[in-house]
Amino acid sequence: MIAPTDPPIQAGVIGDPIAHSLSPQIHTYWCRKYGIDGEYQRIHVRPHELEYRLIAIRDQGFAGINVTLPHKVAIRQFLNSETDRARAIGAVNLITFNETGAHGDNSDGIGAFTHLKSVLQENDRQIAEDRPVIIYGAGGAARAMSYQWLISTRAPLILINRTRKRANELVSRLSEISDFRPRLTARAPDELSPADYANAQGLINATVLGMHGETPLRFQIGNLAPDAFVYDLVYTPLETPLLAAVRARGQLGIDGLGMLLHQAVPAFDAFFGVRPMVDEDLRAHVIAALNRPPQL
Ligand code: NAP
Repeated sequence: MIAPTDPPIQAGVIGDPIAHSLSPQIHTYWCRKYGIDGEYQRIHVRPHELEYRLIAIRDQGFAGINVTLPHKVAIRQFLNSETDRARAIGAVNLITFNETGAHGDNSDGIGAFTHLKSVLQENDRQIAEDRPVIIYGAGGAARAMSYQWLISTRAPLILINRTRKRANELVSRLSEISDFRPRLTARAPDELSPADYANAQGLINATVLGMHGETPLRFQIGNLAPDAFVYDLVYTPLETPLLAAVRARGQLGIDGLGMLLHQAVPAFDAFFGVRPMVDEDLRAHVIAALNRPPQL
């Protein structure tokens, strides 16, 4: 039963392109489930339109918006405030509007970490505070995941990236938070030592490698400890060649769809005032949408 509000609560997602975004499927599923009179739209915004479209969306009475590529960094200059985690990550994927303006947050890291922890728990495991994780990548997803790992655990982090300079820059940026500094190391992928592989509790792929149209990520998974997890943030395809290889060895492989679903939880709460659940029905609903052609 949907309780009507007048007008319905409005929210959406901005990006360029935007047709592929699955956020409307997630938010409209939850609106139906929780009986909320809400609308969630895809809004195509090109980079040069960012500032005036943000103001226009706010003036239309939107509760807030999600922000996807390529605007997550550029949008920051037009906001009235941002959370500590959005500032530390250097990107915003969630904006709420109120009488004091537009306020930015980043829910990618918490979404990914919540998903990782829930899968580990389902497998009777937990994060080991004394073993490093290896995160591959230095872009937006790697920044969000690294920050959340460091703030939520006491465990070390080894960052690797094709462009070593970007891994160094990310380590410098995160080292500004002094608690993080002793736990952080940057390496090039081919600089990982046998001990790095053997000690790691997991590998997180935060690069584009393995996505449809990209080359697969080739990683020496055989050198990882048998109990190490592999978390691939890619979700198109749901099972990347890396995950297929990991699962064939009997190791725990985790796909990126859970991150997408969990990063939407704080957004839905902020827009519609209900903390929603991520469950198997939602996952099946979004997988069905993934398998349909995009709406143009
Ligand atoms: P991004 O900011 O553009 O960063 C791309 C990363 O991929 C960089 O580290 C880049 O390395 C690396 N890369 C690109 N081509 C490569 C190659 N040929 N070999 C090795 N490394 C390469 O992108 P992003 O937003 O962080 O996204 C990264 C991944 O996370 C994507 O697969 C995306 O789908 C996924 N993601 C998933 C979710 C989710 O909800 N599951 C959310 C966000 C992102 P260089 O620095 O060397 O260029």
